Amino acid sequence: MTTPLSRLLSQQIHAHGPMTVADYMAQCLMHPQHGYYQQQRVFGRDGDFITAPEVSQMFGEIVGLWLIDQWQQLGCPARCHLIEFGPGRGTLMADILKTANLMPAFKAAVQVHFVETSQQLRALQKEKVATATWHDDITSLPDDAPLLIVGNEFFDALPIHQFIFQNRVWHERLVGIDPDDDTKLCWHIGPASAAVSLISPSLSPSEGDMAEACPAALSIMHSLANQLGAITGAALFFDYGYLKPAFGDSFQALKAHAYVDPLAEPGLADLTAHVNFHALAESAYKVGISDISLAEQGQWLMAMGLGQRAQQLASGKSATQQQDILVALKRLTAPDEMGQLFKTLTFTSKA
Ligand code: SAH
Repeated sequence: MTTPLSRLLSQQIHAHGPMTVADYMAQCLMHPQHGYYQQQRVFGRDGDFITAPEVSQMFGEIVGLWLIDQWQQLGCPARCHLIEFGPGRGTLMADILKTANLMPAFKAAVQVHFVETSQQLRALQKEKVATATWHDDITSLPDDAPLLIVGNEFFDALPIHQFIFQNRVWHERLVGIDPDDDTKLCWHIGPASAAVSLISPSLSPSEGDMAEACPAALSIMHSLANQLGAITGAALFFDYGYLKPAFGDSFQALKAHAYVDPLAEPGLADLTAHVNFHALAESAYKVGISDISLAEQGQWLMAMGLGQRAQQLASGKSATQQQDILVALKRLTAPDEMGQLFKTLTFTSKA
């Protein structure tokens, strides 16, 4: 199907040749007019996918408790920047701030910052957290007080490069125009870009293997870890992905809760890739952060007390409400739902 964006992409490909998956993904998600995240109705039951903060308020409450605990471990600083990457509808931060009412000194100390490129989503975020400051990227984030950082399903939206191992060499996977039908996009192969150097050297590839690299994610992690090392703080990220280096093709498109062809409707489907948590952790470690933990989301949430919170929330509620709470708890933690595929990465500036 041709979309307003596919026409623009075809013109670019005609002019400059096939583009990398990273260029394609960046334009599909973030093009200022036709990018996927410029639409508002992407999350939730009527949208294309449901994220953990939209499943239940309990998710944001547990994250809020973790942040309060980290703030206390930092010595309860009187000022602190609370930064969220890719806040979507702003639900996670709204639930964190409600939980912060339990600890007024924490609430008074934190100033909220959102890193968000989509103007449409910024408008929704403003309805939930009017006092936030918005940033296009990390370069304008403050560095004059400790940082508390959160992000849910942020890294999976960053552009990846894909590579294919053929004739004993890594090649770049590219998006080009179908020679038989110039209204259609199709896969091409070309010489590997410099991002090929990010493929883990610990694995030996076989003919036909695919590998992925996300330079944008590594560069953000590198900067955050550097900042945390310099001015103290803690960070917590949730995403779906893998803990050990691996080969494979995880590039996927989701529309109305179903998987679709990533090249079929540019700008109209969500594009994501699984996050390489090993590479993220390694990039923080390389700049001197040693307190790094990786866990499955289900285990992390249960260890943080999600089970008790669900019980407390359910007490005195109607049978239907109790059932809803149980369903949400299961959705967030069960191994066959979000519990195992989703991972948690935490790192702090502690020595
Ligand atoms: N955290 C939210 C939304 C996840 S979707 C939730 O859990 O519901 C990804 C979010 O990241 C969207 O808000 C999207 O606009 C934002 N985003 C994607 N790429 C970005 C980038 N490069 N810089 C800043 N924000 C980005």
